[in-house]
Amino acid sequence: MATIGFIGVGNMGGPMARNLLKAGYRLQVFDLSVEAVRHVTDAGGKKAASAVDAIAGADVVISMLPAGRHVRDVYLSDDGVLAKAAPNTLLIDCSTIDIDSARAVHQAAEAKGFDFLDAPVSGGVGGAEAATLAFMCGGSDKAFARAKPVLDNMGKRIVHAGGAGAGQAAKICNNMLLAVSMIGTCEAFVLGEKLGLDPQKLFDIMSAASGQCWSLTTYCPVPGPVPAAPSNRDYTGGFATALMLKDLKLAQGAAQGAGAATPLGAEAAQLYALLAAKGHAGLDFSGIIKMLRGEL
Ligand code: NAD
Repeated sequence: MATIGFIGVGNMGGPMARNLLKAGYRLQVFDLSVEAVRHVTDAGGKKAASAVDAIAGADVVISMLPAGRHVRDVYLSDDGVLAKAAPNTLLIDCSTIDIDSARAVHQAAEAKGFDFLDAPVSGGVGGAEAATLAFMCGGSDKAFARAKPVLDNMGKRIVHAGGAGAGQAAKICNNMLLAVSMIGTCEAFVLGEKLGLDPQKLFDIMSAASGQCWSLTTYCPVPGPVPAAPSNRDYTGGFATALMLKDLKLAQGAAQGAGAATPLGAEAAQLYALLAAKGHAGLDFSGIIKMLRGEL
């Protein structure tokens, strides 16, 4: 079985790495956090002293880092992955980052003859643990074909979105739509409450009518209709406002660069920025209903 160098084993990377161990891969793990590394070495991974150490002798490198600057640093620095990886190593970055950074790393990787894939995910920590993540991939057909059997061990939907940066592009388009649909769903419930409607009745009607959407039927922002939704846990343990805001800012940056009009995406970014500024960056993103009710 192949050896994988895994860089960044935090909330997402940790469970993803453990699923690769379960599948039988040898893992060499590096993270700036000793604690994060321990969660993977306890499951059988080998601790690496640095990123260079993690990729030594690896067939595949996977990274799961916070933002574009971390990815540029890990791949492009003088003693980074591109400088030190063996020829023919397959490189997969699963972080959610800006498209420009993703394309810069693609270009540098290609110039050195590496197959590189941007492969951000959706599905959250629960999906990472259950190996049910969706991967949105950008890169060549060859890079995708090589990566798919590895990604299959961490996810259940592995989609080739297109060339360099296409995975990041698909991810921010999806999350911008998600934010807009969540805010719209919340507004409908708040209006319904003011008009004296029972939330369960309104849910039953909208979920079978043209207002039906994922934010309503899978992630309902009022407690009751969808028992697994974070609204039933006072908006904890889901997809944090801070992470949604990060993705919305990436979407706005990309929209400006590409000249796309995204007025509702811009409004959604402002509303989530306001929620975060009020001290609720850790609240699940469906908790924005509380702000719309005037409770926060
Ligand atoms: P996290 O902060 O828990 O993990 C990131 C890890 O990277 C940390 O452990 C940190 O120590 C490590 N790190 C930072 N710089 C490093 C470096 N130079 N070398 C080695 N390690 C380094 O974040 P997370 O929640 O695991 O998210 C990771 C990525 O996945 C982000 O881009 C995020 O937007 C994306 N994402 C997160 C979720 C989610 O629900 N948490 C869902 C989808 C996508």
